[in-house]
Amino acid sequence: MLKLAVVGKDVSLSESPAMHTFILGRMWEKCLYDKISIPPEQFSVRADRLFAEYDAFNVTIPFKGEIIPHLRALEGDARLFGAVNTVVARTRTGYNTDGFGFLLMLENAGIEVKDKCFLILGAGGAGRSCIKKLVDGGANVYVYEKDADRLAEVYSDLGGFHPLIEIPERAFDVAVNCTGIGMHRSVGQTPTVNFAGGLQPVGKEFFASVKAAVDLIYNPEESAFLRIARECGRQTVSGGPMLFYQAYCADCIFLGKSPCASEAKKLFEEYREERR
Ligand code: NAP
Repeated sequence: MLKLAVVGKDVSLSESPAMHTFILGRMWEKCLYDKISIPPEQFSVRADRLFAEYDAFNVTIPFKGEIIPHLRALEGDARLFGAVNTVVARTRTGYNTDGFGFLLMLENAGIEVKDKCFLILGAGGAGRSCIKKLVDGGANVYVYEKDADRLAEVYSDLGGFHPLIEIPERAFDVAVNCTGIGMHRSVGQTPTVNFAGGLQPVGKEFFASVKAAVDLIYNPEESAFLRIARECGRQTVSGGPMLFYQAYCADCIFLGKSPCASEAKKLFEEYREERR
C-alpha cells in the first residue's frame, strides 16, 4: 500500500486526497493519502520526517520552494523554476507537474500547440510553466504581464517568447488567463490589460481577435474571462482538467509509468461523473 500525502500551510479543503485516491484506485494501486497542514515556521523542522513516513508526497503553497533544501535532486521544471509540487521520498527527488497538466489539458481539448499563436496573461508561477511548455512545443508565444520587472526576469530565464507591455491588435489562436483574476475576491472580474490604446478589463472587444480561451482558474468552473469568451462564440477551456492532470502526472511518477492523454481524459471524465 502506497503511503502518500499533500503538504501545505492549510490543506484542510484540498481536493488532492480525492483525486489521487481515485486515480491510483483506477490504476489498481491501493493508497493511503493524508492531508498535512504545517505552520510555515515549523516546516523546516517537520520536513525531514515526511521522507520517513511517506513513499511520496505532493507539496503546495507555501512550501514549493521551501522543500528544496531537503531534496537530493530536482527534475525538469522543478529545477528550472525552483518550485516542487511532487516528491518521491526514496530518492528525495522533486518534480513539478503543472506544465505537463497544462499540455494534457490542451491536447484533450483539441488545442494544438506547434506553430499556433498563444497570448499568455500573467507570468507568475503557473504562467511560467505554461510559457515554457508552449515555447518548447513550437508555439509562437506572446506574454503580457503587469509587473515589468517580473516579465523581464522571466524573459531572461526562459526567452523564446515576445514580452508585451501592450497587447497588439493581431490574431491569436489561444488566449490563456494565468493571472488568477476571476477567483477568490475577484470572482466576476476579468484581468485589466493594456489593449486597444489603454488599460481596460478584458471584454468582448478583446475576444474579437482570439479563437479560443483557456483559464487556469478552476473555481469557479466558468470564470468571467471564459463566460465572455463563450458569449463571443469562442471555444473555452477551464482549469479543472489541468488540476486533475497534474495530479495524474504525479501519480505516473509515483508508479514509474508514462502519462497517456487518452487515459488521463477517461479518468477525468469518470472522476467528474463520480463527484456530480
Ligand atoms: P501568481 O504567481 O500570483 O501569478 C499571477 C501573475 O499574474 C502575477 O505575476 C501577477 O502580477 C500577474 N497579473 C495579475 N493581474 C494581471 C493583469 N491584469 N495583467 C497581467 N498580469 C497580471 O499566481 P499563480 O500561482 O501563477 O496562479 C495563477 C492562477 O493559476 C491562479 O488562478 C491559480 O489558481 C491557477 N492555477 C491553476 C492550476 C491548475 O491546475 N488549474 C495550477 C496552478 C495555478 P502581480 O503579482 O503584480 O499581481
